[in-house]
Amino acid sequence: MPILKCPYCDDEDIEISYNPKLRQYTLTCFNCDNYIKINARQADLKCPECESRDIRHDDLETVCGECGMVLSATSNYVGGFKIVLDWGLIL
Ligand SMILES: [Zn+2]
Ligand SMILES: [Zn+2]
Repeated sequence: MPILKCPYCDDEDIEISYNPKLRQYTLTCFNCDNYIKINARQADLKCPECESRDIRHDDLETVCGECGMVLSATSNYVGGFKIVLDWGLIL
């Protein structure tokens, strides 16, 4: 059974996500601020584009195996460095 509501407060204002570092699905409730670990069956992730449940996870992103849509990417880890352009003096 997929989880559609927060098990604590019964609110539907939830977000289900996958943390590739912990290899763990989590449910975040925006109503009561709970953070709950759930399993893949409870998460029941599907692609918003083609409704496929062939969701694949690698270290950086969650991708639909059917249409290739990127569902989430932890780009903030990738972009952890700043690019500084030094043009020097314009004379
Ligand atoms: Zn809640
Ligand atoms: Zn898809």
